[in-house]
Amino acid sequence: MSSALNFSDIPSLRQKLGPLTGDIAPVTTPIMFKSPRCFHKPPAKSFQHRLSQEALSRGSATLKTAGTELNADVISLATGRPAPEYFPFLNMTLDFPQSSNFTEDDQNSSLSETIGKSDIKTNKASYDLAISLNYGYSAGSEQLIRFFTEHVDVVRNPPYSDWQCSLTAGTTSALDSVFRTLCNRGHYIMTEAYTYSAALEAARPFGIRSIGVQMDEEGMVPAHLDNLLSGWDVSERGASKPFLLYIIPTGQNPTGTTQSLQRRKDIYAVAEKHDLYIIEDEPYYFLQFQTQKTEVYANSDQPPRSDPKLVETFLNNLIPSYLSLDVSGRVLRLDSTSKILAPGLRCSWMTGSADIISRFLYLHDATIVSPSGLSQLALHTLLDGVWGHEGFVKWLLYLRDEYTQRRNITLESCSKYLPRNICSWSVPEAGMFHWIKVDWRVHSLAAAYSKADYVAGNIILKTEDRIYSTALKKGVLCCKGSAFRAGGVQGCEIYFRVTYATASLPQIEEAIARFGMAIKEEFEVGV
Ligand code: PLP
Repeated sequence: MSSALNFSDIPSLRQKLGPLTGDIAPVTTPIMFKSPRCFHKPPAKSFQHRLSQEALSRGSATLKTAGTELNADVISLATGRPAPEYFPFLNMTLDFPQSSNFTEDDQNSSLSETIGKSDIKTNKASYDLAISLNYGYSAGSEQLIRFFTEHVDVVRNPPYSDWQCSLTAGTTSALDSVFRTLCNRGHYIMTEAYTYSAALEAARPFGIRSIGVQMDEEGMVPAHLDNLLSGWDVSERGASKPFLLYIIPTGQNPTGTTQSLQRRKDIYAVAEKHDLYIIEDEPYYFLQFQTQKTEVYANSDQPPRSDPKLVETFLNNLIPSYLSLDVSGRVLRLDSTSKILAPGLRCSWMTGSADIISRFLYLHDATIVSPSGLSQLALHTLLDGVWGHEGFVKWLLYLRDEYTQRRNITLESCSKYLPRNICSWSVPEAGMFHWIKVDWRVHSLAAAYSKADYVAGNIILKTEDRIYSTALKKGVLCCKGSAFRAGGVQGCEIYFRVTYATASLPQIEEAIARFGMAIKEEFEVGV
């Protein structure tokens, strides 16, 4: 068999691998759904030496293990799973936009799907309310694990054999699991200098500290990561050398930076050198805009919709993820449905080596059990039933085009309303965030202070705070850059993060105009 796998190969693959069990919470491993090409690759290295004390003291749940003895001839008097007749949910009807075209107008021509309680028994569907509303398996339902395993197989093609997917209750929950599974109190983790504040906040209560690595226009700087690790002094730091690297490679939150393929390879090489374990947090992966670094369509900003290779071209032009470069199995990739489908689903997926994923499943047994069954059912109905793999990617393409427009309006508004001698920015190549640097050096007070005064006297924070408050009074809420600063990073600059995710296009322009007025007021520039 050739090593290429396309979405068009999935139906025959499914036929070869056989039907789903249709049981309640069957133990499911992606081995059941992976294409043969996966098994010709070398296995992942073991990362058991990176497990936390908590993870090492956790095993499989006794009651869940008992459930695995069930088969069609066995009557269960074991686990307390209510019979479905006591679930007061009979049918669920959902309307979805169709994948032929996702323009806003066409979303009116929706497709309606009704899922009943016993659709599996009556052969009407492969997933139903009786199964989804019962206790689920810790990695998720077989229906959705199959879909995401196929998606990862086609889109990521991890270069080792024993990778696995598990559902998560969203990345926030997965990060909590990461810190519990891989870190002990007192550990340091390496992050980008400015990073997702909720990740730092999730780590802090576990006694985990962060070290910020310098960034440039392409995100984390590998040489600085290497220097920090090579020069790590255990007695000076009072902690062992860090081994967990938390990274947001695409449309980074908050800076909007995107790592090129070469940058990813360079960081991976540092990870190999220092035996790091990488947490790749990638909610914005599919929102890679059309620029020189991704792709340019002949004479147009938009891909030609009629192109039969639309999906393939889109996927081929995305910068590969760390998971696709990961020859050792040292990457845990966190995908989220929050930014590409709906954050309230609280149902996403992660991929890593079986060795490590199994530890997350033990933790799930004692925490989330599994993501909400209703969310899983809704997702499966949409992704597997209505859209299929290609339709899902077409949705991602539609979203990418929408966010390209939002990003463009944001940039145009910044050029129009922000004073260029005070504010500067790079063009975000992916994601939802724009990172604006405000140069305090041109402030009328700056001459009276040295840079050291600025840092030591918290003048930077006070200036940032004044701009923030003035902007709010003028009717725009932005995020202060200091909220995202990782440990060990000196606050020598003022930044603001703005997002173009929520406001309408006219509101984005108005909001940037208001922010510009706040800047001009602070810097006493004529309005
Ligand atoms: N990771 C990053 C980098 C984010 O920017 C966000 C949300 O803003 C999340 C994770 C949260 O993801 P989830 O909704 O899946 O918990």
